[in-house]
Amino acid sequence: METAIRSKAFETFAEVAGAIMNPAVREWRAQGKQVVGYFCSHMPTELLMAAGLLPYRMRGTGSDGTELSDAFFSSINCSFPRHTFNLALKGEYDFLDGLVCVSSCDHIRRVYDNWKQNLNTPFLKIMSLPKKVGDPQVDWYLEEINILRTELEQHFNVQISDQRLRDAIKLRNETRRLQRQLYALRKEKHPPINGAETLAVMVAGSAMPAEQYNPLLHSLLEDLQQANGNTGKTDYRARLMIVGSELDDPDYVEVIEQQGGLVVTDSICYGTRTMWVDVDEQAADPVEALARYYIQERPSCPRMNGDQPRRQKFLQDMIREFEVDGVIGERMLFCDFWCAEHYMNKMDLKEVGVPFLQLDREYITSGKGQLMTRIQAFLETMGK
Ligand code: SF4
Repeated sequence: METAIRSKAFETFAEVAGAIMNPAVREWRAQGKQVVGYFCSHMPTELLMAAGLLPYRMRGTGSDGTELSDAFFSSINCSFPRHTFNLALKGEYDFLDGLVCVSSCDHIRRVYDNWKQNLNTPFLKIMSLPKKVGDPQVDWYLEEINILRTELEQHFNVQISDQRLRDAIKLRNETRRLQRQLYALRKEKHPPINGAETLAVMVAGSAMPAEQYNPLLHSLLEDLQQANGNTGKTDYRARLMIVGSELDDPDYVEVIEQQGGLVVTDSICYGTRTMWVDVDEQAADPVEALARYYIQERPSCPRMNGDQPRRQKFLQDMIREFEVDGVIGERMLFCDFWCAEHYMNKMDLKEVGVPFLQLDREYITSGKGQLMTRIQAFLETMGK
């Protein structure tokens, strides 16, 4: 990734985002500590942190094929599980001491089934994720979290006390607060950081301990504030927002930005949906606070039924707050949730006069020429 940012902290984030294994994980393991992978932003990572485990968000970074995993998936499974499971079959995820899936979608369910059948990760668990965002579903997820809490305690021989949970919630909220500060810089007319660079920072946050990530992010914020005016982005044609799912590749955003579209905000699985609101630190029961947060309070994704009006409001609030000229809806091929959601996004945004472009894609960034042409045409239709 090309960058004009002069910051040691940013170099670390780019390195962590660019590979599966990174120095922070190596150091963590060298201290005798354990790592647990997870697939979806509905995973209450605070629970893993409270157990003394490093939560590691699964991705297929660096994958260049699906030759081993193809046999395990049908032709209509999306390429994200294919690439990630292929890396697992090649041994790239052998550093995991556990994997926790939630029943996000059939594609991820298949990863869980195949993982169980073919790999020997010591702790393996799937949580049942409700389909709606009401109080009964909060109660349901609370039970799921409590079951996971007990199973983690038994398997890893730890005690996850309420106090440890509260400490983890505070630490993770601190990450969210710093990430929101980073996003606030992008509201400026000449933001000191672009969308590809921001995505690298966000992805890094899912693959290193918060105790290490938070001070580094703090130092990046200082570097950006000091450099502002010298490295602010001035040569863009339009301010864009990306809406979609599992986008963890800064290069994809870089292609968009090379055409002149500066990505200033998002609603994606690695972006605002993970940090725009905090978990309640004052709640009487920290498990209930987590259940309420992950089911009801954070910005939802189309995996959750009946919440589209709230998602639409979130999108339009973002457009106003970040002075967005146009929205790109990215969707991985065969993802049903985002197919329906982007259809509604298109209709809703048309009503308020905001240009919208839907881009279907494969997990690894391919067909760059076509992507460039689509973005150029989009900017031109906006008169930019
Ligand atoms: S992109 Fe859609 S279908 Fe594919 S794993 Fe993510 S949510 Fe599931």
